[in-house]
Amino acid sequence: EAITIQELANRMAERAVDVIKLLMKQGQMLKINDVIDADTAELIAEEMGHTVKRVSEADVEEGLFTEAEDEGGLKPRPPVVTIMGHVDHGKTSLLDALRNANVVAGEAGGITQHIGAYQVERNGQKVTFIDTPGHAAFTQMRARGAKATDIVILVVAADDGVKPQTKEAIAHAKAAGVPIIVAINKIDKPAADPNRVRTELLQDEIVVESMGGDVIEVEVSALKGTNLDKLVEMILLQAEVLELQANPDRTAEGIVIEAQLDKGRGPVATVLVQKGTLHVGDILVAGAEWARVRAMLDENGNQVKVAEPSKPVEVLGFQGTPEAGDRVAVVENEARAREIVDYRQRQKREKASVQFSGARGSLEQMMNRLQEAGRKEFPLVIKGDVQGSVEAIVGALEKLGTEEVAARVLHAGVGGITESDVTLASASNSPIIGFNVRANKQAREAAERDGIEIRYYNIIYDLVDDIKAAMSGLLSPER
Ligand code: GDP
Repeated sequence: EAITIQELANRMAERAVDVIKLLMKQGQMLKINDVIDADTAELIAEEMGHTVKRVSEADVEEGLFTEAEDEGGLKPRPPVVTIMGHVDHGKTSLLDALRNANVVAGEAGGITQHIGAYQVERNGQKVTFIDTPGHAAFTQMRARGAKATDIVILVVAADDGVKPQTKEAIAHAKAAGVPIIVAINKIDKPAADPNRVRTELLQDEIVVESMGGDVIEVEVSALKGTNLDKLVEMILLQAEVLELQANPDRTAEGIVIEAQLDKGRGPVATVLVQKGTLHVGDILVAGAEWARVRAMLDENGNQVKVAEPSKPVEVLGFQGTPEAGDRVAVVENEARAREIVDYRQRQKREKASVQFSGARGSLEQMMNRLQEAGRKEFPLVIKGDVQGSVEAIVGALEKLGTEEVAARVLHAGVGGITESDVTLASASNSPIIGFNVRANKQAREAAERDGIEIRYYNIIYDLVDDIKAAMSGLLSPER
């Protein structure tokens, strides 16, 4: 924590030259743009007769996200669902089919807009679908500490079976602790073999109900519209088990699903309300931006006055464009909103000017962090050139586990290291191990940005030895 003399003077509403004079008396010759540390700043401020209050994110957030208001008023809320799966297995088709099936049944002639999420209704019960398939958005949000999904629909094409991205999606959902429903898609195809899908899923410890497990599966065809009703029914069933609840009668909280600067309308953000009810006229903060809600639009382009839990709405009235994954909270007035946003924007600027050193997702950092936390798991993402070596590595790492500490493989797969691997690793601050494979450019950039260490090996023994050393460091710091 450091501050320039100019900034300190501004915050005290004093002249910078007076601050410089005072520092000079104490033997420090500094100029207006020089930086002083927080302790010095505090001394100066006190000397000049100001009371010092060091503000932190915790301070500005105080009372912002609260659970106190939840009590007493909890009511069931619709589930929020994300569709994941391998490319071309039908994620987009399924999202479209579910939406269209609903439009036909419901608002005839309604023009659907892409706002990042939509709701469908069945027998008076609603389901919210996040309209960006794939796990990039899902994991990015999770990496930022936001949870926007209650249930993951894993789409697997019946004519293609379990593929690398299917496995990735499973890893992502598992890491987030979100239950999976398997949609076996394309059952209209002659080559469809749903049982092959069921069997292949066993490898990733997904045991569907028809094989004696507890993961719900539904055979569907997004193309023909087969069993879509049943899929929605199963989602509602799973939601019931999860007992999803929120209090609608409190100030709203939520999350930004999408945001952009619209030419005609200014900054626009789709907010998924998670608690309380959002009203036109409310003042809210979203990350480092704030808004007085001027209007809200649903996915059919209709104006709405209120949005209850699990409802996605496009919000107009932002001062600037927030970011997807930003948490949203309604505040009591504009002054409060400005205070929070000022602080966060300043933090953002300071962060941007500080060069990050020391990766947070390195083996060493991992050890320190786990030691501090007294935790016993050692998360890892592993990519290798062939299935055999990946299995051998995972097997060897499992053997290393003791009662005190164990490796937890978040994801082990065949192929080069991709951005998606980094996003997954980033969400759990885990290092990535590449065995006879490299990271592509996007992955390297993402790893650099997120501070995730990628380690390359071509001898299993070396790899296991390193992890063992890291883990034993964890076991006995003084040896
Ligand atoms: P995504 O990459 O997972 O979003 O997959 P898409 O939704 O783009 O679908 C990929 C291809 O599979 C498209 O050509 C779709 O028309 C086709 N497709 C999707 N669902 C079905 C289905 O149920 N049956 C058949 N026969 N084709 C499908």
